[in-house]
Parts: sequence; structure tokens; C-alpha cells
Amino acid sequence: MMTEPLPPIEIQPRDLSPYRAGNTGIDYVHRFDSGRPGPHVMINALTHGNEFCGMVAATHLLDAGVRPLIGTLTVSFANVAAYASFDPAQPFESRQLVHNMNRIWSAAHLDGDEASPELVRARQMRPAVAAADHILDIHSTSRDVSPFWVYPQFQRNVAAAMALGRPSVHLVMPQGMGTGTPLTQHGAHGSASFHGVGLVVECGQHFKRSTADFAIGATLDFLAHFGLVAPRPRADAPQRRYELLQTWVVRTPGFRFTRPLVGFESFAQGELIATDGHDEIRAPCDECTVLMPARLPIVGREGVYLTRPLR
Ligand SMILES: [Zn+2]
Repeated sequence: MMTEPLPPIEIQPRDLSPYRAGNTGIDYVHRFDSGRPGPHVMINALTHGNEFCGMVAATHLLDAGVRPLIGTLTVSFANVAAYASFDPAQPFESRQLVHNMNRIWSAAHLDGDEASPELVRARQMRPAVAAADHILDIHSTSRDVSPFWVYPQFQRNVAAAMALGRPSVHLVMPQGMGTGTPLTQHGAHGSASFHGVGLVVECGQHFKRSTADFAIGATLDFLAHFGLVAPRPRADAPQRRYELLQTWVVRTPGFRFTRPLVGFESFAQGELIATDGHDEIRAPCDECTVLMPARLPIVGREGVYLTRPLR
């Protein structure tokens, strides 16, 4: 595999130990109750350890002393252990230590016998996630692409993301991820009849300053949408939506894309996108659009998302 130059690290990780002692009994989880009726909104950072933009947004809320006008605000840092393992010489390595912390939120995983730093942490955070009505889980991408939403196709999520309108690109998942249960679908949050919104926001490339700035804006937009902070000017951009068709999990060390991809490239039906050992990954439809192609494919991890544009 060709080695690529590393991107510049414009956001440095900061020491999070001052944020360890929250007020919930769970490390790195902070809760502020307005004393007024209203929704309980959770802003979660660092589900992936090297996605610094969420850390910048969460510390911004805490450092600025943002308090909810109504309802309750929870601010959390998830995979702090992976975050703490950051090595600027290998900046993509600290995404996770063992498990992808955004695929283990099923009862089967959380109630199971398996142990890993991510499972231990998810079990600690479980009551905080379960208590929230609405969740914004802040992420970033290895490639430098436009920010976009990712959410299961529940009407409540579609309505909120379209109303927010920033980012203006949406990846909707009619069948979920296909590779596990994300934090935003934990417990009741994964049910079609639940009332709460659960959105992932992908804010741009992991280490860019603009990604962190975007994350702060997306966080304040989300809080304003539910009335926890003052209203913000609405975004008014045309919206682009994609539907997830398939998540390809890498099967062999021979996984190769047919050409370098960063995301949002489009393929005609039947066109070869990648090969994985003897398997061929071909576009299942016209205008098949790839999202989140792996920078360095790893066996057992997600290699690429195949989507189609929604009209
Ligand atoms: Zn992520």
C-alpha cells in the first residue's frame, strides 16, 4: 500500500483531565439542569478518539459556561482513552483502541461478557445516553470532504436535520449502519416510535481548524433548535441527500480501490469501485456515490459506504 503524506495537525489535542470530574458520577460527563421544563439534549464528543472537533466544541461549551435556557444539557467526552493515545506521528491510530465505539451500543454488546476499553466506557456512559432525549454525536472524517449528517431514517431525524440545514449534505440510513449499533441508536433511541432526535454530524477533516469551527457552530445550532440556547440565523442552502445502500467491511489485506477516492465520487451501475481479494465491489445503481472510503483499509473495519442520491 502506498503511504500518503500525513495531513497537517492544525488542532492540537489538549489535556482533558480538568474535565474528568463531572457532576453525574460518570467521568467526563457534565450535566446542567435549567430548572425549567424542556428537552434533555446531549452533546457528545470523541466517540472516535482522534476526531478532535467534538472535543473543541464540548470544551467550548464548558469553558464558556453555556447553560441551558430550558431543559437539561449534557456534555460528554466518550473515548478519552483512545484520545489520550494520540501520537502525531500516527494520527489515524487513535480512532479506537479495540472496538469502534460507535458500533457497540446494542444491549447484546453492553450486557455481554466481552471487555475492551470502549465497552467499559460505553457501559459507564450508558445511563447518560439513555437519559437524553436528543443527541448530537460529533465526528469528523479522515478525508477532507464537506461536512454532512449521518442518521437513521426516522422522520424525527429527517425533520430536525432538514430544519437545521447546516451541514447541507445528509446521509440517511433506512436500514441502520449494517455493521453495529451507533451511540445515537442506543436503546429507545433506535426505535421508530421514540420521540428523540439522534444525529451524527461529520464536520470535515479530523485535524483542520475549520472542522473544529464547524463543530462549534453545529453544536450551537442543535442546542438552539431545541431552545436550549438563543436562536441562531438559519442556514438557507439547498440540501443534498444520499441513502445508504451498503456498508462494505474489508475482508482481505488485498482490499484496493480502483482509483484514489476521498468521498462523494460517483459511479455508474456495474462500475468497479474496489476489489477485496476475489470479491469485486461494483456500483449497485447509477450515480452510486461513495462515502467515507477508508484511508488505509483494515480487515474487519468499514472500507466504504455505497449510497445513492435521493431526489
Ligand atoms: Zn467518527
